[in-house]
Amino acid sequence: MTPSSRRGLFRDLAAAAAKAAIGDEKPKPPPPRAPLLSDAELERYSRQLVLPEWTEMAQLALRDASVLVIGAGALGSPVALYLAGAGVGRLGIADDDAVELSNLHRQLLHFTPDLGVPKVESAVAKLRFLNPEIVVEPYQVRVDASNAPGLIEGQDVVIDCSDSFETRYAVNAACCAAGIDLIEGGVVGWNGLVMTILPGRTACYRCAFPSKPEDARSCAEAGVVGPAAGVIGSLQALEALKFLTGAQAPLLDAFLSVDLATYETLTVHVRRRPDCPDCAG
Ligand SMILES: [Zn+2]
Repeated sequence: MTPSSRRGLFRDLAAAAAKAAIGDEKPKPPPPRAPLLSDAELERYSRQLVLPEWTEMAQLALRDASVLVIGAGALGSPVALYLAGAGVGRLGIADDDAVELSNLHRQLLHFTPDLGVPKVESAVAKLRFLNPEIVVEPYQVRVDASNAPGLIEGQDVVIDCSDSFETRYAVNAACCAAGIDLIEGGVVGWNGLVMTILPGRTACYRCAFPSKPEDARSCAEAGVVGPAAGVIGSLQALEALKFLTGAQAPLLDAFLSVDLATYETLTVHVRRRPDCPDCAG
């Protein structure tokens, strides 16, 4: 349905409602009108809005949402680009690194002229170009256990695109303590995983991974394929959009493991641990 036909439909519905109200002996005051999308928003988001399950209310819910993306690198780039494009109203980007030459094969928000520029600065510039209708906020900080609770406060969803287990555990603990929904992701080599966590309701990251794997290697040590990170980041963005719009159900009490070398996927079901130090009690 085109934006103009959507508007036409709304007018017809409003006219029908008004006609029906005339027969009442005591006309009730009309319900408060929901804030509607502008013509520019209807056009910008038209290819989402045409989906039957992606209603105007779903788009308004996205516009009202606050999302914090931790890390503006290989995963954070596709996550932030897709969420900005989709119309998440307030998007925070946290990262303390500067753009390096070795980032550019996979970190889509940064270009060669950005070398040496703080990643949050580079990221926010691109995201504001992409969608000036939204608010994008840079946080030039390395997220750790001491600052995570303050950074995530007031967010609807946190998307962890960091590259270290220490950060993941700190973010998971903070989100569990504050009851803020979290989408975890990780990629190395040709493999990655995605996990969506609703604290207090579904298994958390530490329920799934009680301790850091002994053989864990970083992307600098083990390498990483750019498009593999793109796939995993896209899946994280997809989970966020499913969750925020209600258009589809996110993957819960499980993590999705994806092998981009063979295209094998594995859904590993996870239960909450009654002794989990982060989410139990
Ligand atoms: Zn847990």
